[in-house]
Amino acid sequence: MSDKPEKFIDENGLRLDGRQIDEIRQMKIKIGVLSRADGSCYLEWGNNKVLVAVYGPRELHPRRLQKADSALIRYRYNMAAFSVEDRIRPGPSRRSIEISKVSREAFEPVVMTHLYPGAVIDVFAEVLQADAGTRTAAINAASLALADAGIPMKGLVAACAVGKVDGQLVLDLNKAEDNYGQADFPVAITQDGEITLLQMDGDLTQEEFKKALEMCKEGCRQIMEMQKEALRSKFADDLLAVQVPDEAAESIDVAATLEDVVEEDIIEEDVGAEEVSEEPSEETSEDDLAISEDAEIELAEDELVAEELDESDADEKIPDVEVEFVDLLDEEADEEADDEDKEVASEGSETREQ
Ligand code: UDP
Repeated sequence: MSDKPEKFIDENGLRLDGRQIDEIRQMKIKIGVLSRADGSCYLEWGNNKVLVAVYGPRELHPRRLQKADSALIRYRYNMAAFSVEDRIRPGPSRRSIEISKVSREAFEPVVMTHLYPGAVIDVFAEVLQADAGTRTAAINAASLALADAGIPMKGLVAACAVGKVDGQLVLDLNKAEDNYGQADFPVAITQDGEITLLQMDGDLTQEEFKKALEMCKEGCRQIMEMQKEALRSKFADDLLAVQVPDEAAESIDVAATLEDVVEEDIIEEDVGAEEVSEEPSEETSEDDLAISEDAEIELAEDELVAEELDESDADEKIPDVEVEFVDLLDEEADEEADDEDKEVASEGSETREQ
């Protein structure tokens, strides 16, 4: 671990990484990076790198864990063994269990779980590189991965931390500030301004506490703008396709709008693009609904089997094609074909030899 710096804030009021005291680190967001997940997001924040995958809603097994009136959210925060200077022992730790719990609770007020009784929504947050603020980075990414999965939410959740170094409050701690600072105060806030996570390490006076909260709110507001922008750029084409008015696209309900878009995609994939009429009749939408519901139930039970089948299918298809090709060549060789056919056959066998 690096040594404690003598000073965290220089005479110009700048921090060790050149930021102002109320400036957040640079953030890069990419949504929909994993093809197997229902929703995913890769997020870099300063030197933090996190990847979040969302699966569901899908039927929860074993059934005794199901909730009769709502879906269960499971949130797993995990640090990769190579994510920090000293190797992290794989598997859950006291810290990761605690972070998983508080992060799940940060989403419970916004995810509309009552729409999916008996189901589960799994959120896997993997920290690939850690540099302070990983729980808040993971929450920011999870919020987008949930939206990407089309999970109905009342709004997004954004998170950031305030700390205290050299007796001053600073927004979005870097590693040195986190390790050697006098306080660490991570907060998550919903789009409605509801605080869904608030933790505190170290000491703050009452005044400092109030100011820290204001700084967190401002940081989260900025992050939420970036989250919305990331969603807009990911789904811009789809949003145009369903003719969402500009005001709606910019409003808080981006996530709800995306749900429709993502559901349309799922239906198209399931029934085949040619079966989706441009002007859906009542009958079509009922079919679509039925297909969508069936697909969701089957997804939970058959996901692993389907993946295996896909892989074995893919393996089988290649030899099939080769066998047919060889048969064809044999037949052609046996026949008294004309010269042109023979040329094609010899060209084909040359290609295969390559
Ligand atoms: N950290 C570490 N090893 C650990 C846990 C944390 O090196 O086992 C580092 C990591 O860089 C992390 C930072 O300490 O980002 C701060 O950890 P904290 O528990 O405050 O959580 P975070 O700020 O990442 O949410």
